[in-house]
Amino acid sequence: MSPSDDKQRKPMTAFTRWAAARLIKDHDQVDSLGVRSRYGALEGWTSIVVNTLLFGVKISVGLLINSIALIADAVHTIADTATSIVVIVGFRVARKPSDREHPFGHGRMESIAALVVALLLFEASFELLRSSVRSTLEPSSATASIGVIVLIIGTIAIKELLARFAYALGDIIDSQALRADALHHRSDVVATALAVVALKVAGSASIG
Ligand SMILES: [Zn+2]
Repeated sequence: MSPSDDKQRKPMTAFTRWAAARLIKDHDQVDSLGVRSRYGALEGWTSIVVNTLLFGVKISVGLLINSIALIADAVHTIADTATSIVVIVGFRVARKPSDREHPFGHGRMESIAALVVALLLFEASFELLRSSVRSTLEPSSATASIGVIVLIIGTIAIKELLARFAYALGDIIDSQALRADALHHRSDVVATALAVVALKVAGSASIG
């Protein structure tokens, strides 16, 4: 992370601290596993709600203008709910107290959640690479009005805000699981941007 990256995220860091102080009980006790699991739940549930809304917009627009790239991106967006569930469950298991089989507690579950999220991100990056190669080889003929393109760019902006929110939460409690999910949201920004680039603007002279 470069210092300029840090500066970029500053307003969101301030907002996230403000939101955490209001929504999370004992928000400053970031070493407590119970408090950490509440941060994990905040990130996970926010991601699920935002991704479900973005799915609704993308699938409607994708079907309307018959864009395979956009429909595929919509399906990816709703599939990302699985990653958020891994985050929520990982933190929830981590806060369980130690028992006979796990005398040192379950704190390591948070690291395992980070690993699973990272593996899912790796898979998503591979898919992204594959679909961008495919769309380069066989450009889509889907056309979109300026209004539709602005709408999709709006979904990209919302996803970028979600990425910054997740990064900020990850920084507050110093969690690799939340940072990995933030990185995934950031990769989705790139994925949707590529789906937009694949569209032809309605009314403009077509080149191909
Ligand atoms: Zn994704």
